[in-house]
Amino acid sequence: MDLKSNEPFWLVKNGLLSSYPSLKQNEQCEVLIIGAGITGSLIAHQMLAEGYKTILIDKREICNGSTSATTSMLQYEIDVPLYKLKQQVGAEGAIASYRACSDSIDQLEKISKKIKSKAGFQRKDSLYFASKKKDVSWLKKEYAARKKAGLEVIWLEPKHVEKKYHLQKTYGAIWSKQGASVDAFNLAHELLEFNAKKGLKIFDKTEMKSVKYHPDFNEVLLASGFTIKADKIIYCIGYESKNLINENFVQLKSTFAMVSEQDQITHKNFSNTLFWNTDEPYLYLRSTDDNRILMGGGDEDFQDPEKRDQLLNQKEKKIIKAYNKVLPSQPFYTDFVWAGTFGETKDGLPYIGEHKKFKNSYFVLGFGGNGITFSVTGMEMTAAYLKNKKHHLTEYFKFGR
Ligand SMILES: Cc1cc2nc3c(=O)[nH]c(=O)nc-3n(C[C@H](O)[C@H](O)[C@H](O)COP(=O)(O)OP(=O)(O)OC[C@H]3O[C@@H](n4cnc5c(N)ncnc54)[C@H](O)[C@@H]3O)c2cc1C
Repeated sequence: MDLKSNEPFWLVKNGLLSSYPSLKQNEQCEVLIIGAGITGSLIAHQMLAEGYKTILIDKREICNGSTSATTSMLQYEIDVPLYKLKQQVGAEGAIASYRACSDSIDQLEKISKKIKSKAGFQRKDSLYFASKKKDVSWLKKEYAARKKAGLEVIWLEPKHVEKKYHLQKTYGAIWSKQGASVDAFNLAHELLEFNAKKGLKIFDKTEMKSVKYHPDFNEVLLASGFTIKADKIIYCIGYESKNLINENFVQLKSTFAMVSEQDQITHKNFSNTLFWNTDEPYLYLRSTDDNRILMGGGDEDFQDPEKRDQLLNQKEKKIIKAYNKVLPSQPFYTDFVWAGTFGETKDGLPYIGEHKKFKNSYFVLGFGGNGITFSVTGMEMTAAYLKNKKHHLTEYFKFGR
């Protein structure tokens, strides 16, 4: 599966941050993590903190999957609005899922401080604005649901949105206190470097081909012919899980993102806010720590990389047009445009937990616009599972729900 087009900004900006060897012998460990993107890196960080003898493998170069293409908005807000999610999974699960994403942002800040990260973690407010008049009634309903759940939100009328953010043609917005952004590609590399020094073994260009399940352990056969014996496997293989699991649990899509030239941000409140609107697919905007405008949207319901990459020019124009409609006073000059694979679930929630066909194994698959915050929640969930404990989100994030 080709997960991204050639020039995601983070790959160009950061270059090859670190390189690891491929595995050239048989190995053995307590925990084998398959997939070294932001999810695998976070899970590895947790496993090392828990004291497990851990190996991490990736078939590509480290972090060259979706993690190199992500726009890394860290939101407590899930793609499915809270009032709708309550109808889908019940109030308890919906509120707990929103809270988990909110806690993940705090957790990522702590992790960033602990590893002395230079990946630009920055706390931000969030503004969810109505792009059409007809969206105001449900957005107000959403505002009420969030307020009732104790989330820190304020309703802003269009004139306030314009005054504070210079946004035109909005019909009102939910302002939220909680949000952040980061360079996830850099952060994942930093996490791996930090944990490699603590004993984490990392191998890139090392592909899992098949697994033989024994009662107490798994024997992983690699493309190279070598094997890894592991008490437990944690699959952090992102959208390529679709190749491994037959059920229809995620819909793969294509999504588009772009970043402006540097020093294009003229509005003070732009840099400390994440923006997204009520369009379907939604437009989203944020600043980068090197003072660029980063934005994305234009999702398409197919995953074919060739078809996706042919749309790059057209999508660039369309997304800029949508941007200019709301923020004409801060022009956007493109530096990089890219596309990536993206996954949507029916309830906007991830799949974190066991699958009956994969013994002694767990999956951490953070899908949707909250992929990264869900992966953070996966840290405490997998830690609990390895101790044979349940987690309060197990029911909501499990396969076959
Ligand atoms: C354009 C774009 C914008 C996005 N914006 C946001 C956002 O603003 N906020 C947010 O939270 N999320 C966002 N996402 C989603 C987010 O990027 C993903 O949730 C996240 O990157 C997934 O990370 P991962 O580590 O799970 O997957 P990946 O980074 O894809 O890592 C999985 C790894 O598994 C490896 N692998 C697969 N199969 C095997 C195998 N058999 N053997 C060995 N290795 C294997 C792959 O090589 C890959 O490196 C966005 C995604 C895209 C594409």
